[in-house]
Amino acid sequence: MELEAMYRALGVSPAVYSYGQSVLAALKARFERVDEVAEYNQAKVIAAMQKHRVSAPCFAATTGYGYDDVGRDTLEKVYADVFHTEAALVRPQITCGTHALAVALSANLLPGDELLSPVGRPYDTLEEVIGIRESKCSLKEYGVSYRQVDLTEGGGFDWDGIRAAINDRTKLVTIQRSKGYATRPTFSVKQIGELISFIKSVKPGLKVMVDNCYGEFVEMTEPSDVGADMTVGSLIKNPGGGLAPIGGYIVGSAECVSRCAFRLSAPGLGQEVGANLGIMPAFYQGLFLAPTVVAGALKGAIFAANLYERLGFRVVPSGGEERHDIIQAVELGSPEAMRAFCHGIQAAAPVDSYVIPEPWPMPGYDSDVIMAAGAFVQGSSIELSADGPIRPPYAVYFQGGLTWYHAKLGILMSLQKLVDAGLAKVEPDCP
Ligand SMILES: *Cc1c(COP(=O)(O)O)cnc(C)c1O
Repeated sequence: MELEAMYRALGVSPAVYSYGQSVLAALKARFERVDEVAEYNQAKVIAAMQKHRVSAPCFAATTGYGYDDVGRDTLEKVYADVFHTEAALVRPQITCGTHALAVALSANLLPGDELLSPVGRPYDTLEEVIGIRESKCSLKEYGVSYRQVDLTEGGGFDWDGIRAAINDRTKLVTIQRSKGYATRPTFSVKQIGELISFIKSVKPGLKVMVDNCYGEFVEMTEPSDVGADMTVGSLIKNPGGGLAPIGGYIVGSAECVSRCAFRLSAPGLGQEVGANLGIMPAFYQGLFLAPTVVAGALKGAIFAANLYERLGFRVVPSGGEERHDIIQAVELGSPEAMRAFCHGIQAAAPVDSYVIPEPWPMPGYDSDVIMAAGAFVQGSSIELSADGPIRPPYAVYFQGGLTWYHAKLGILMSLQKLVDAGLAKVEPDCP
């Protein structure tokens, strides 16, 4: 068994390896379905690139103002096509996902308007953008109010509550697709579509933005296919395919996206400026690879869920559940287990594999946070990574993996470290 010997050389014992193989044996049909979605999305991306005649001049660097930047303009047409929208803004000048979301919100809300989240509390970093937590230059400071309707006990939409919350001032609705680092379910594109239809039936003309982080290419459709006026995400997550070293995107109606462009650059300039600085090859090739990369990350999430679930750990989503994003939570029950898990993920990395992650105080968190990441692009969470706050239920959030094989190694190594520390047990002939 050359493969088993290779894993052994990397530090995975035969017992852990064979337990992993026994878990995998039951996942064939799931993986086939993941591949089917990836194949569909790959075709969708290629078709868009062909339609807009992507060619070598698109990869050339521009500097200065970046007028008539054919690479940038063509890429935006490709994105608009992939997401089936009128327009797209895809820029290295958008520094991260939070920035893209902040641009989309502040460009489409004016003083006196109200923003509504019908899906409970938004992602941590958006609390300061909105002004839920006091912050300089928040929407609140500019006179934009915020209202929130929490999900029901079972994680569903509170239809009556949402209807009651929509008022004369409500201008924009923000829907977060992924659970992020919360315990609520991630929404399917279909559920998001139902929510958007409902919202627009209560108040026609109301605009809807979807935070699509971690959701791109997980399904065959995107929120932009089911009525979202803006769909927003980060290029160092799914759509950058691991190659984009920075960036964010906003796709949607021409009206909303052009306002975003004016907010990002300056009134009067909009989408006409913004040199690409030579980054275009990574953006195009990353988008080209993204459906396959997302498939690898999804297989890793499904494998981790089933592997840990069978050992008795609570996992969210559960092993058998359908996926709508690439994040997997594993409740490990103790700080020691979180350290061991993260140590394993780090030890499997191509970069910084010799580093041992330690919990650390982080701005914005009330407990120490542990993080494992050995990434080519710093902070990239489409690359294999794990993190979590050191507090009950001691859950690690695990995501990414540029290839399925790397994700598999990382998960096996995480289990190996737990076994080595006496925190988990696999029988040689498990299940
Ligand atoms: C990652 C993420 C963000 C913020 O993206 P950054 O690139 O980290 O700023 C926002 N929303 C969700 C759901 C995310 O997962």
